[in-house]
Amino acid sequence: MNAENNCIVIFGASGDLTHRKLIPALYNLYKIGRLTENFSVLGVARSDLNDESFRDKMRNALIKHEKASGEKLDKFCSHLYYQSVNTSDAQDYGKLVPRLDELHDQYQTCGNTLYYLSTPPSLYGVIPECLAAHGLNTEEFGWKRIIVEKPFGYDLKTAHELDIQTHRFFEEHQIYRIDHYLGKETVQNLLVLRFSNGLFEPLWNRNFIDYVEITGAESIGVEERGGYYDGSGAMRDMFQNHLLQVLAMVAMEPPAIINADSMRDEVAKVLHCLHPLSEEDIQNNLVLGQYTEAQIDGEYVKSYLQEKGVPEDSNTETFMALRCKIDNWRWADVPFYVRTGKRLPARVTEVVIHFKVTPHPVFSQNAPENKLIIRIQPDEGISMRFGLKKPGAGFEAKEVSMDFRYSDLSGASSLLTAYERLLLDAMKGDATLFARTDAVHACWKFVQPILNYKENRGRVYEYEAGTWGPKEADKLIAKSGRVWRRPSGQMKKKI
Ligand code: NAP
Repeated sequence: MNAENNCIVIFGASGDLTHRKLIPALYNLYKIGRLTENFSVLGVARSDLNDESFRDKMRNALIKHEKASGEKLDKFCSHLYYQSVNTSDAQDYGKLVPRLDELHDQYQTCGNTLYYLSTPPSLYGVIPECLAAHGLNTEEFGWKRIIVEKPFGYDLKTAHELDIQTHRFFEEHQIYRIDHYLGKETVQNLLVLRFSNGLFEPLWNRNFIDYVEITGAESIGVEERGGYYDGSGAMRDMFQNHLLQVLAMVAMEPPAIINADSMRDEVAKVLHCLHPLSEEDIQNNLVLGQYTEAQIDGEYVKSYLQEKGVPEDSNTETFMALRCKIDNWRWADVPFYVRTGKRLPARVTEVVIHFKVTPHPVFSQNAPENKLIIRIQPDEGISMRFGLKKPGAGFEAKEVSMDFRYSDLSGASSLLTAYERLLLDAMKGDATLFARTDAVHACWKFVQPILNYKENRGRVYEYEAGTWGPKEADKLIAKSGRVWRRPSGQMKKKI
């Protein structure tokens, strides 16, 4: 199904996300015919641009990021418009009214409008209010939807406040909270793997699963975003949103049907079952880390504290590992080990389901426990590890693997990227892959004790850049006789 005719209003149109992700995603949707000719994009920011200069800027970005050229590029750019607005002055939003009327008329979009908030989060409450002041939120003529970029709040309290403010002017069905992880094909594949196969679901519980590991590793550091990252850290940047959403996909109950309400009901339910973290849990089951300088492949790599924009006494974590539990029938006593970090040896996001070992060892040496490895990025795929007989005398078992790579599927090369998929869904009115308010709150509620610990300058261990985090993270999992998997991944040569 293609997008409905509509006008997309991007707040923060002069910023990084717009030219690096949003405009390329819209261009690619247009190129493959998923956007009709009846769409327009109105860029909004304070910068002094006009339609022509905005088009030039976006054209250059498309040439750079998408190697775009030719007639399609020209035609796409002709759908782009720009309006300069002082985003903190409610009166100034009045300029949008005639611009939007004109665009709705010209493109016959029936008043359908998709607002995309790609501004600093401090404006997420202000923009809906200013739109409402000019009646730009009402659905009298066409639908009005609003996409909000992460972070949805800074902690439990600010997430509540943001919701109250947004809900004053937009109803929940109009709000699309974007978490680009949910737009990734392999995250959605987790659902298909679990719920469309008879093989896995009967084993997917405490009777057969020993523990679950979730890793979101990055080999890069904070790049040019030191200032932003320092206020966020690994917890807010990766764990609270992306990794908890992945955890929910792994652990949720089967939805009765695949639609936005049914899916998101199950996601919220399982997030509500996360065992609350006590002070003792924080002491025993959480490890925070920060990378120090290193030589990697003969190249010098700065420490986090030497990065641009990072205060020299910063206590912000660039790594975290946590053992958590889910209090329900399916998962009682099954630990979920989740870790994420920057400057780790590989860029890889994966889920590893560790199955229980056989109840009684028949052979002198059994194979290691069976594992199902679900690779979310890069080289999306699934690998099943099990034991088979080593050729030759005796009954020694060795681990073998059955591997499936997503790229081998026909049609895989034409997959939509996460932003393409999610923008298209929002233009179709499908909120299935967008975070609902109750799930967002459940995540914040769960992590709030960690935020409090951080606030009180809780212990952050050092780890050398290019290693798998502080040795305390190994000790954390070793307490129960387990070890972290050391996944190979896309190595970044120049770190
Ligand atoms: P950015 O490069 O700093 O752009 C911010 C945009 O907001 C600019 O266009 C800026 O343009 C506009 N703006 C409007 N009012 C503003 C004000 N009062 N103060 C500052 N800027 C104002 O940020 P970004 O990287 O595009 O990120 C946008 C949002 O997406 C952020 O909330 C970020 O957390 C989120 N996000 C970004 C990424 C990414 O990869 N970049 C990924 C995930 C989430 P004017 O100065 O012209 O007004």
